[in-house]
Amino acid sequence: MKIYHTSYLEISKSALEHNIQYLKNFINDGVQISSVVKGNAYGHGLEVFVPLAENCGINHFSVFSADEALRVHNSISENSTVMIMGLINNEKLEWAIENNIEFYVFEPDRLEKALEAAKRIGKIAKIHIEVETGMNRTGFAMNQLPAVFQLLKNNSSHLCFKGLCTHFAGAENIANYYRIKKQQEVFRKVIKKVAAAGLNPEQKHTACSAAALRYPKFQMDMVRLGIIQYGFFPNKEILIEYLTKKKENKNPLQRLITWKSRVMDVKKVKTGEFVGYGTSYLANSDIKIAIIPVGYAHGFSRNLSNQGIVLINGQRVSVVGTVSMNMITVDVTYINSVEKGDEVVLVGKQGDLEISVSSFSEFSEQVNYELLTRLPENLPRLVVD
Ligand SMILES: *Cc1c(COP(=O)(O)O)cnc(C)c1O
Repeated sequence: MKIYHTSYLEISKSALEHNIQYLKNFINDGVQISSVVKGNAYGHGLEVFVPLAENCGINHFSVFSADEALRVHNSISENSTVMIMGLINNEKLEWAIENNIEFYVFEPDRLEKALEAAKRIGKIAKIHIEVETGMNRTGFAMNQLPAVFQLLKNNSSHLCFKGLCTHFAGAENIANYYRIKKQQEVFRKVIKKVAAAGLNPEQKHTACSAAALRYPKFQMDMVRLGIIQYGFFPNKEILIEYLTKKKENKNPLQRLITWKSRVMDVKKVKTGEFVGYGTSYLANSDIKIAIIPVGYAHGFSRNLSNQGIVLINGQRVSVVGTVSMNMITVDVTYINSVEKGDEVVLVGKQGDLEISVSSFSEFSEQVNYELLTRLPENLPRLVVD
C-alpha cells in the first residue's frame, strides 16, 4: 500500500504478456498491432503500460491527442512509433514532425498547415489520411479527396502518405451490421481511388478490437487495438460470438487491473438507524459495517449506492448507503473477523471470488471503457507479476 493513497491499482505484467500472445491467434500474419493507449491507457496508467507493452514486442502506439503523444514519446524507446488519431493543434505540428510523431489529417486546414510546417523545418511529415465513410465524425468527404490526392502528389518530398484510414461506427454491435458494411464499401471505393490517383499509402487501417475480431478482412495492414489488450472484450455480444465460434466457454483473455483498498474503520449500527447521508439505507436489524476510503471522487460511481459489491476476507459484501465523495460503507455483519487494515478488493480477485469490471459496470451503468478511463490518474499503479 502506498502510504499517501487510500486505494491503488495493480497492473499485471503476465496478464498483458498472455493477452498479446493470445491476440496473435486472430490477427493475420504480417498485420501490425498498434496499441491504443488513449484515456491514460484505458485507466491503466500510460507511463506504466507503455514499457510493459514494449516488453511484449509492441512498437506502435495510438493516442487521441498531442498531450498523450508527448507522454508516450517520453515513455518509449527509440524505435517505437506514436500516432495521434485525433487532435493536434496547428501550433504543435512542427513538434510532432520534428519528433517523428505521426498524425491523422482529416480536414484541409490541417493538411495545409502540416505541409507548411514540414517545409519550414525541412523534415518530412508522416500523415494518415482519415476518410469519412459513414460515422460522420472526423474524416475527409469523398468530394474533398481529389484535392487531397493532388496536394499529396505535388508535395511528396514534404508529406509522406503513411496511412489511409477510417473508423467504424460501432463494430461491436450486430445492430450496426448494415451501417458498418456500407462503411466498408465506401472505404473499398476510396482505396481504388487512391490507387487510380497513383498514390500508395504504406498502411491501410480501419479496425478497432471489435472490427479486428468480427471483420478479419478489414485488419488490412494494421489493427488499432484498445480494450482487448487490457483483457476485455468490447462487449458481451462480441465475447459470446467469439466463444461460440471457437467453442470455448470463458474469456480467454486476462484482466490486467486489480483495484484494492483497506478497511479504515469497523462499527456497529443499531436497528432503526440510517447509514451515511440521508435516509437511503435503514438498518432493519443490528448490523456491523466497515468503512472504506474510496468514493466517487476515486471513480467508484455514485450509482453503486446500495448496489455495489466489494470483497473482504474472500467474501462478497454489499455497499450500504450512498457512495460519498471519498468513502463507502459496506455491510460486514456476517463476516467473522473484519478489522481495520483488512484488504478490500473493489475490482479483481480475492480468494476464490472475483469482481470483474463488467459486473461492476453493469451495476453502475458504465461500460468497461468508461469505468476504466474514469479511474483517477493519480491513483498509484503498481506493476505486479
Ligand atoms: C479508441 C479507438 C480505437 C480502439 O478501440 P477499441 O474498441 O478499444 O479496440 C481504434 N481506433 C480509433 C480511431 C479509436 O478512437
